[in-house]
Amino acid sequence: MIKNSHNIKVLKPWGNYKKVKSKAHSLIEDRLPKTLGSNNYIVFANGRSYGDCNLNENTVTTNNFNRIISFDKKKGIIQCQSGVLFSDILDKVIPEKWFLPVTPGTKFVTVGGAIAADVHGKNHHKVGCFSEFVLSLLLLLPDGSVVTCSKTENVELFRATCGGMGLTGVIVEATIQLIPIDGTQVQQTTIATNSLEETFNAFKTYEDTTYVVAWLDVSSKKTGKGIILLGEHSKDEKIKISTSSRISIPNWFPSFFLNPLSIKWYNTYYYIKHKNKNQEVSLDAFFYPLDSIKNWNRLYGKKGFIQYQIVVPKEDGFKAISHLLETIKKSNHTSYLTILKLMREANSNYLSFPLEGYTIALDFKVKKGLWDFLDTLDHIVLSYNGRAYLAKDGRMKTAVFEKGYPYLKEFKLVRKKYKLNTIQSQQSKRLGL
Ligand SMILES: Cc1cc2nc3c(=O)[nH]c(=O)nc-3n(C[C@H](O)[C@H](O)[C@H](O)COP(=O)(O)OP(=O)(O)OC[C@H]3O[C@@H](n4cnc5c(N)ncnc54)[C@H](O)[C@@H]3O)c2cc1C
Repeated sequence: MIKNSHNIKVLKPWGNYKKVKSKAHSLIEDRLPKTLGSNNYIVFANGRSYGDCNLNENTVTTNNFNRIISFDKKKGIIQCQSGVLFSDILDKVIPEKWFLPVTPGTKFVTVGGAIAADVHGKNHHKVGCFSEFVLSLLLLLPDGSVVTCSKTENVELFRATCGGMGLTGVIVEATIQLIPIDGTQVQQTTIATNSLEETFNAFKTYEDTTYVVAWLDVSSKKTGKGIILLGEHSKDEKIKISTSSRISIPNWFPSFFLNPLSIKWYNTYYYIKHKNKNQEVSLDAFFYPLDSIKNWNRLYGKKGFIQYQIVVPKEDGFKAISHLLETIKKSNHTSYLTILKLMREANSNYLSFPLEGYTIALDFKVKKGLWDFLDTLDHIVLSYNGRAYLAKDGRMKTAVFEKGYPYLKEFKLVRKKYKLNTIQSQQSKRLGL
């Protein structure tokens, strides 16, 4: 984010593929900044979304709204302002042997961003989304009122807010239930697979494991070959606080370093390095490997990249994922990082992404023809009754979105009932929300 003296910032999605000038209004108390006037707005938190869900000409920024209000060490309940980062929570709670119940692949997201996207982690097949652990939240509506929402209070607002991409109001505060851990190590097992059949079989075999995720080598001739990563919190009572320094990618990094050949070499190295191992690793190494490289998103160069993440129902999961992978193989687009996960049944939030099935996330460099190609993938996904993740989206067409999200009508009714039309993002305008 680049600032100038009039608080005009140049905002970019995490995928770095476009720039938007935005007037930033900093949230400092649970009242809308007066400078907003009658302009429409959206919250921009820590910018870890890949697309345009947090972009608008006027943005409410929450990076100064980052106080941990209370932490009950006995019950593992934490109450904080919405701009608090997961990394700040972890620094506070790990020494007391508590951990986040659900965490995405980076700890540099805010509590507000995690609720608004209703994020999932490597344990979705066991515990579901982040919202399952949100005991309550405070929501600031455009009329200035602050409403308490939970699974039992103002339920429809809660369901619309969790996964609602910031379109129901500004989340100002949240109270979250943590999970206990014995120490800071994770027992990690990696299993190499040689085909998509083997990868899918491994998901069945290990469905009782707490954390499961598959990395796929899409550059291999063997479609669906990869490494399954399994994890359990270790019983070892050691508490080691990570102090590892982060290397940083400069903003002039030339994109030609990432090309189909270099990724083929890297994937071969990764496969051999991680093949069939059993070891104790740190929480950071297990949950946040990408965080060890600051600004890794610059690796894709000036034109940037997009992460395409979709989910398809379990019954046709194998067919759908192999259809997508074969289509990608025949195209001139390469996925530089491909992750597959199993998900449990959908929750009752109107726009939460997960449904019972398989989710795949693919990182594509932005180049000519990519948007059209992703439209083709969208149609494949829809033909299997799947849908795309709004936190990663920056180009989906309205019709595709509408077919994928059956509770859109309920979401729109909440927007209407609470007069939320001044809350808008580039994404909400594009998708007709
Ligand atoms: C390396 C990496 C790995 C990731 N892994 C995963 C993963 O495994 N699972 C997963 O689910 N996601 C994952 N994500 C996506 C990320 O978790 C979400 O995009 C998250 O919403 C980003 O949070 P943020 O605080 O950066 O918010 P932003 O990106 O700034 O905003 C995200 C959305 O939340 C809204 N929002 C933010 N704060 C508030 C608030 N206080 N009130 C109302 N609305 C608000 C914004 O308006 C916007 O719509 C990953 C992202 C990265 C970069």
